[in-house]
Amino acid sequence: MVDIAILGSALSSIKTATDIAKLIKDSGTSLEKAEVKLQIAELISSLADIKMELADVQTILIEKDQNITELRNQLNTKESVVWSKPYYFVGQDEDQDGPFCQQCYDQEQKLIRLQGGGTKIWHCLSCKSHFKDSNYAREPLPQVRVIRS
Ligand SMILES: [Zn+2]
Repeated sequence: MVDIAILGSALSSIKTATDIAKLIKDSGTSLEKAEVKLQIAELISSLADIKMELADVQTILIEKDQNITELRNQLNTKESVVWSKPYYFVGQDEDQDGPFCQQCYDQEQKLIRLQGGGTKIWHCLSCKSHFKDSNYAREPLPQVRVIRS
C-alpha cells in the first residue's frame, strides 16, 4: 500500500535526522566547524523530507476520513431501505421516501426514484423498467360507435 510506504519513508527520515543530531551532540568539540555545518545541513534536509512526507500522510488520512464518512452514509441508507413489493422505499412511516426501482437497487445499489404511479404504471427512467402495483387500473378501451344505415 502506498500510504504505508510513505509512513515508512517518513519514519526512516526521522531516524536519519535523529542519528545526525546524536552525531553532532556526541562529537562535542572534536568536529571541525565545516563538518558541523555539513551535518546541520543534512539534518535540515532530513527534516524537510519529513515535513513533505507527513504532508502526504495528512492528505491520505483526510481522503480516508472522507471515504469512511461516505461508506457510513451508504450503510445508513442501506439499513433504512425497505422492500415493499414491487419496489423499495427508504425510511418508515411519515419519513418514508420513494418508491425506488427494484432493478437498479438490486443490481447497482442505486436508489432511482420511480416516475408515474397512482392508477398508472411506475417507470424507471434509468433502466426503463415498468412496475404495476395494487393501485394500477387498466385504461378503459375507447368506445367504438357503430353507425348503421
Ligand atoms: Zn431502474
